[in-house]
Amino acid sequence: MADVLVLGPHPDDIEICAGGLVLSMIARGYSVAGVDMTAGESGTRGSPEERRAEALEGGRRLGLSARECLGLPDGGLQNDSASRDLLINAIRKHRPRLLVAPYPMDHHPDHARTGALAKDARFLAGCAQIGPQEHAAWRPGRVLFYPSREVLEPSLVVDVTDVFEQKLEAVRAHRSQLHQPASNEPRTTISAEGFLSEIEAQARTYGAQIGVRFGEAFVVDGPLAVEDPLPVVRDKGQSVYL
Ligand SMILES: [Zn+2]
Repeated sequence: MADVLVLGPHPDDIEICAGGLVLSMIARGYSVAGVDMTAGESGTRGSPEERRAEALEGGRRLGLSARECLGLPDGGLQNDSASRDLLINAIRKHRPRLLVAPYPMDHHPDHARTGALAKDARFLAGCAQIGPQEHAAWRPGRVLFYPSREVLEPSLVVDVTDVFEQKLEAVRAHRSQLHQPASNEPRTTISAEGFLSEIEAQARTYGAQIGVRFGEAFVVDGPLAVEDPLPVVRDKGQSVYL
């Protein structure tokens, strides 16, 4: 069982896109589990074995209580019944209150379909007669969708300032994907020398919106129930807005 279940289409997405949220929640005493939809076997760089070892190391650096891989095809994810059943089973097994997944309008098809799968599987996992019967029905309360490279209008920004360096350490576990001067493998967006600076720039941009140094942005698939709005409207950067 986990309080939060985070989905990544590929083995490095949880760290890159939601690593700060994961670390922040674990620091508050919540348990967070991760599910990689694919093993990243179609990636331009790194073998599946390397990527599996890197995912385990990244998960260890984040403090994930569990990390599993559904083994779906990298580059060919589909929102079909077989894939939904795998995800429904994972949701019922971990019984999370919150699901975290890629933004369904992401430009990468695997990310977009993971977002759509998360939305559908969240609902269907609560329908007892649908899907595998290995575990009892369970429906997480909401899905938080994370962007990768899109700039979106967030529903909420999580202050990840205190854990940002730890997040970068978890991202660095994915060595095969990142810049290595001696590597002869083809260049990718992530292997560019400035990629970690781009992560920092994105975190600074979203953090500035709530008056903190580093933030991670999320879109919620429905309203959040808030009993006391004051703790969540605080602005650490300025005491007064005029
Ligand atoms: Zn990805």
